[in-house]
Amino acid sequence: MEFDLIDRIRARTQQQREDVRLGIGDDAALLAVPEGQELAVAIDTLVEGVHFPRGTAAEDIGWKALAVNLSDLAAMGATPAWALLALTLPDADATFVDGFVDGFAQLARVHRLALVGGDTTRGPLTVTVAVHGFVPPDDALRRDGARVGDAVLVTGTLGDAAAGLYCVTSTMADIRAEVREFLLGRLNRPEPQLAAGQALRGQASACIDISDGLLADLGHICKASGVGAQIDVAQLPRSPAMLALFDDATARDFALVGGDDYELCFTVPESALANVRADLARVGCGATRIGSIVTGEGVSVRDLDGTLLDTTDTGWDHFIA
Ligand code: ADP
Ligand code: MG
Repeated sequence: MEFDLIDRIRARTQQQREDVRLGIGDDAALLAVPEGQELAVAIDTLVEGVHFPRGTAAEDIGWKALAVNLSDLAAMGATPAWALLALTLPDADATFVDGFVDGFAQLARVHRLALVGGDTTRGPLTVTVAVHGFVPPDDALRRDGARVGDAVLVTGTLGDAAAGLYCVTSTMADIRAEVREFLLGRLNRPEPQLAAGQALRGQASACIDISDGLLADLGHICKASGVGAQIDVAQLPRSPAMLALFDDATARDFALVGGDDYELCFTVPESALANVRADLARVGCGATRIGSIVTGEGVSVRDLDGTLLDTTDTGWDHFIA
């Protein structure tokens, strides 16, 4: 089944790049890493029913499979260049593949990314994408550089994708069309924050993309850096659409533990904060300070009434998508 599909994939993802010496069609691609750059590589798998709900449009799956990978490059401050695509399909469904590849290619075009190879097999619907990007030596944004006193910031708004998943799965009937559309867009078409990541190079002390929820992902920065973080619920950036749909406590919980937003969470020394804000504004990216890095370990959360939330309570688990 594979050859016809591979031709279709190649035809729909044309992207000329000087550094692709040989693309789809041979046993391996031949690629030239620009002089003076390090290669940043990442890979992620999406499984139907686990990482996206059954019934998700093929175009949305294609977009998201690439977006989650580009988000990893964004979190490193890297500039994307190439991708590999391993597709496992229940059957050789050309309509699905065309839709999938069109969604993938839409996002690839925005970032001049070339699809240079992959693999196509039969089995339960599973999509694996690997991406490759460039970053100047020693300039990558890592998780282990946060220092006590640094400010903690996030791009965009938090909890929208979790709210979107709620819209898909709940029987709540009276969701306004524009609210639903916005939240589903955030779930199905996440925008990897590449310009923000590149603007943060050399300035942020640590950075991560928010795929598993703010608490979990900021927790990874804390663990890697050997520090703690204190954040304020009152500062969490939340969209009007999400706030329109949920009460304060639910909106808070989505923002804290909802996954799949693909915003960046990063830390910056106080002295660099004004510069960083200006650089982010220049690339059209808003960022919100949500707290500070402190001594100790883990993330502590100050609620609206000033009390500290117990985030180790197992009751939080059921929110995690
Ligand atoms: P091989 O047996 O050498 O692995 P394949 O038939 O799997 O060859 O692949 C043939 C060519 O098509 C290779 O260049 C491979 O990278 C490319 N290819 C296969 N599947 C995909 C895919 N899903 N997306 C992009 N390129 C693919
Ligand atoms: Mg193969």
